[in-house]
Amino acid sequence: MATALVAGGGVLAGMAAGVFHPRVMLFGPGIWRGPTTRPVVALTFDDGPHPHYTARIADILHAHGARATFFCVGREVERHAGLARALHAAGHQLANHTWRHGTGADLFVASRLEADLRRCQESLFSVTGERPRYYRPAVGVRNPAVHQAARQAGLTVVTWTHAARDGAWAFTARRARALAARTRAGHILTLHDGSPHARSALREQTVESLPLLLTELRARGLGTVTLRELLAG
Ligand SMILES: [Zn+2]
Repeated sequence: MATALVAGGGVLAGMAAGVFHPRVMLFGPGIWRGPTTRPVVALTFDDGPHPHYTARIADILHAHGARATFFCVGREVERHAGLARALHAAGHQLANHTWRHGTGADLFVASRLEADLRRCQESLFSVTGERPRYYRPAVGVRNPAVHQAARQAGLTVVTWTHAARDGAWAFTARRARALAARTRAGHILTLHDGSPHARSALREQTVESLPLLLTELRARGLGTVTLRELLAG
C-alpha cells in the first residue's frame, strides 16, 4: 500500500510537470507523426547548431540525398549563425527549440516561455528570412504553459514517433538498425546534432551511425524529407 501511495504521488508529480510521452497530447494539440500515404519519414535533430557536429551531419544527409529538420536552440543559432545559414541553404528546415533551452521556470510560466520562443523565432528569421512554424519543447515536455506559449507565438508543437535517445545512450549500429526496423511511413524520428559539451562521445556515435540509419531506411523504401514536406501529405 505504501508503495502504491508513493507510486501515485509520482504520477501526480509527473502530471503537474506535464507529459513526457511523445504521443500523448493531454494539454493541447501537437504532431507526433505525419500522413502514412507516402513512403517518407522526417528525421529531426535537436539542440544545435553545434560547431563540431552539425556540418558533419549535414554532409552525411547530403551524401544520402536526405533533408532533415533541425530544432535549433536560438542562443546557438546566434553563436553559430553561419552553420544555421548553411543548413537552410542546403534545403534543410529550421525549427524552434526555444532560445535558451530552459528546463526550469521557462517550462511553467507561459509568458516567460512565449518571450523565449519569440526570441528564438527572431534568431532564426535573421538567418533564414523565414519564421519557423514548428516548436519542439525542451526535453519534450508538454504542459498547459507550453501549449499556451506555443499558441500565442503562432507555433505548432511537434514531438516525435521514435527517439534515437542519443542524448542518454550511444547510438550504436545495433540501435540504428533497431530504430530503422520500427520506422514506418509518416514517422518522425528524433536525434541530436547539438550537445552541451564542445566534444561528446555520444554525439560522435550519432555521427558515426547516421549513415547506417539512412541506408537502412532506404533499404525499407523510406525516403527522408523535411517536416514541411512530410506534413504536406
Ligand atoms: Zn533539446
